[in-house]
Amino acid sequence: LAAATRFEDANPKSKAQHEIAAGILPGGNTRTLLHTTPFPLSMKCGKGSSVWDEDDHKYTDFVGELTAGIFGHNHPVIREAIVSAFDNVGVSLGSTTIQEQKHASLICERFGLERLRFTNTGTEANLHALNGAKRFTGRRKVLVFSGGYHGAVLSFGDGKVAENNVDREEWVIGRYNDVDGAKRLIEETPELAAVLVEGMQGAGGCIRGTKEFLHTIQETTKKVGAVFILDEVMTSRIAPGGIQRLMGLKPDITSFGKYLGGGFPIGAFGGSEKIMRVYDPRVPGALSHSGTFNNNTMTMHAGYAGLFQVYTDEVNLAFNAKGDALLEKLQHVSKGTKVFFTGMGAILAAHFSDGGSQEVTCIEDFEERGDLRDLFWYEMLEDGFWITRRGFMALILGTPDEEMDRFVECVGKFLQRHKDIL
Ligand code: PLP
Repeated sequence: LAAATRFEDANPKSKAQHEIAAGILPGGNTRTLLHTTPFPLSMKCGKGSSVWDEDDHKYTDFVGELTAGIFGHNHPVIREAIVSAFDNVGVSLGSTTIQEQKHASLICERFGLERLRFTNTGTEANLHALNGAKRFTGRRKVLVFSGGYHGAVLSFGDGKVAENNVDREEWVIGRYNDVDGAKRLIEETPELAAVLVEGMQGAGGCIRGTKEFLHTIQETTKKVGAVFILDEVMTSRIAPGGIQRLMGLKPDITSFGKYLGGGFPIGAFGGSEKIMRVYDPRVPGALSHSGTFNNNTMTMHAGYAGLFQVYTDEVNLAFNAKGDALLEKLQHVSKGTKVFFTGMGAILAAHFSDGGSQEVTCIEDFEERGDLRDLFWYEMLEDGFWITRRGFMALILGTPDEEMDRFVECVGKFLQRHKDIL
């Protein structure tokens, strides 16, 4: 309570802004996730790996735009790419372009794909991947897992189909990391077109999928002729070649998004020529896949520059090693408390629970203590760290090592300060 009061007192401009916004936008925002009580912080600008709110507090940006912001707020390479595209190409040409093919080729090469299509968001990428799988198999059921998040209308966080999902009958929901359960559901669900799964549940709290679980899905889908769709919208940055290469997986379709647009809107899905042929407009009866901004100039140029010039395999390895080291330190400092940290590479999450540990395998394993989580959020803000309210964090390439160390220190102090309740 005291922390919430301090938050209100320290952020009068964000508070006033929220009241104005709520008169225009439902609840004052256009991204439900960003709503927090008593009001969300309103950020006014970002530079490098820092952001500033309307009340002029500076934060180290650990939200990292939920993994899409890996390049930071004004990376010189991204800037050069978009300024040059704006000056020399134009915003949107209403045509296919060489740049679109170049970016697609680079992504296919990095992730071992034969064919790729762009969308505007990860949500769309998954929707089109699912449509493709249904057309390819002539079936309609899809297996997903509780805790899974595959986009705005594809959320299964609480083990239920999102309220705003259009076809509520198509889903079968299994338990994440339940090897036998997944095998049984794949073998016994009639009309199974696809399994859609994350290699690590990101929004679900950075819960890692085991090799055995993911390989069982791959093998069993093959056996029953269903399509294995790996959602790498978040995890493709975790290792060179994505989590699939790290785990030795070969999904039928992979979906992408986030940082692949260099910080601009993007989604993509791809796989073998055999499956992606369902979208080939030269084939009679092919599925339609349109989108005004699918190949917009800014995204194609910024995304290509980001991937080709900045996020090389060497940079990827060093960056994710830093994330792993940070996670290890946080796990060490929080040992024996009600706080535990999960994650992989430079993507991590803080959890608060009376039971539960960093070894959790699915969201059913523990109950999150919202009160402790909120307290952590308020106090990390006071220490100058911008993290999501639910404890999700994604590092930025330029985040200084000292800030990561300072974060570990602040978490340690937080645990000490509240040791009576933690
Ligand atoms: N899939 C996963 C694993 C995600 O984490 C997200 C977004 O957080 C999406 C899909 C949806 O992507 P977008 O927000 O671009 O629609």
